[in-house]
Amino acid sequence: MEKETSAHRSAHCLVLSYPTQGHINPMLEFSKRLEHKGVKATLVTTSSISKTIHKAESSNIALETISDGYDEGGIKQAESIPAYLERFWRVGSQTLVELLEKLSASGSPVDCIVYDSFLPWALDIAKKFGLVGAVFFTQSCAVDNIFYHVHEGLLKLPLSEPEILLPGLPPLEPQDMPSFIYDLKSYPAFFDMLVKQFSNVDKADWVLCNTFYELEQEAVDWMAKIWPLKTVGPTIPSMFLDKRIEDDRDYGFSIFKPNTDACMKWLKDRPQGSVVYVSFGSMAVLEAEQMQEIAWGLRMSNSSFLWVVRASEEAKLPENFVEEMSEKGLVLQWCPQLEILNHEAVGCFVTHCGWNSTLEALSFGVPMVAVPQWTDQSTNAKFIMDVWKMGLKAPVDEKGLVRREAAEHCIREILEGERGKEIKKNAFKWRKIAKEAVDQGGSSDKNIEEFVAKLVLHSQ
Ligand code: UDP
Repeated sequence: MEKETSAHRSAHCLVLSYPTQGHINPMLEFSKRLEHKGVKATLVTTSSISKTIHKAESSNIALETISDGYDEGGIKQAESIPAYLERFWRVGSQTLVELLEKLSASGSPVDCIVYDSFLPWALDIAKKFGLVGAVFFTQSCAVDNIFYHVHEGLLKLPLSEPEILLPGLPPLEPQDMPSFIYDLKSYPAFFDMLVKQFSNVDKADWVLCNTFYELEQEAVDWMAKIWPLKTVGPTIPSMFLDKRIEDDRDYGFSIFKPNTDACMKWLKDRPQGSVVYVSFGSMAVLEAEQMQEIAWGLRMSNSSFLWVVRASEEAKLPENFVEEMSEKGLVLQWCPQLEILNHEAVGCFVTHCGWNSTLEALSFGVPMVAVPQWTDQSTNAKFIMDVWKMGLKAPVDEKGLVRREAAEHCIREILEGERGKEIKKNAFKWRKIAKEAVDQGGSSDKNIEEFVAKLVLHSQ
């Protein structure tokens, strides 16, 4: 397919991602959008994670690596999370400089670094080399807004009020806040990293966010008063939304190998809107008791289900569950999530509410049962239920677990209930709006266009 603006070929962007699936996916898709508009994009991640990536043969996007200082196992090899982040900063900076020098020497000099907001040190390097520096937020604008308030000392911690009022956001209860905030003791190093996203953001030339204006209008308008924030999402392969970019079917750089054929074959003859798709993403670790309750909830709902259970989580399933449920359900270690959500048989998504999964469900119009686990997922769940009205947040008991009756009730309500009807109407609406945002002349498309045009000017 023709590039939109081939005159832009001269500019070269490094797109530097934090090394997890939930960060690589949106940054890879953003790279494809840049390439489509004529900018050369090179995705950069760590050598440790790149060893585990299943990359489509036909993928056009170049992949380069830097080191986090743990080339064999990444964060799993590190003594602690703080040790990992500190070493990643040091070794990452040094190897990013080496990569810039290598690309320059090979006749492919870099004009711009689009860097993951989790890696603010990349901006110092961009500035040192006279390059354009663009920070890319992979979480929702609402969540960015919350951490910005913490950084500025405008949100006092620990939380002491029953209701938190922040500009651009609806009233939030403590449990609607990201887990690193409502439970400060849980992951202090990750809490620090998220606050430090804002340490040098005012020096960035561009502030990009993986959301779309229509979805988070109030939060975006408020943040845009501080920096010229540009929404560029949803970062979903063009083949599923605006269809402008000819894409390989194997669209991702996947850390786990998807079992595509088994999924599609199993879904093929299921009635429209009848299947419950269940996934807790690439990282969440559920308590065994929680897994069992979800399993029972699925069984009691009497629905067909497709459940992604990563290999490391499999032992938590009830004994013989897979065999006993084989008529009704398919349990797989990883699947091509976008193809599943795009399939007409799928009528409900039981999700951990990772930001990518949330955006994907919104963009494909699949109603959600929100079962958030940690980090930003609690905030996303609040918005899914109360702001976008795209699903139900499953209630939890005093131990913080979703019990089988609650899971069953939410699934039935979405598939067959009165509230489900309303949610399906909203789902249809969001699907349309998401598509329009990235389509030619849409809010996100215009922002990417502006970014590319200025980049080209800079590189001449
Ligand atoms: N994903 C996938 N197959 C699966 C489960 C997840 O391709 O079986 C993808 C999903 O489409 C999303 C990403 O993995 O793009 C997960 O990102 P998210 O932000 O939802 O959650 P995280 O894994 O970061 O917790």
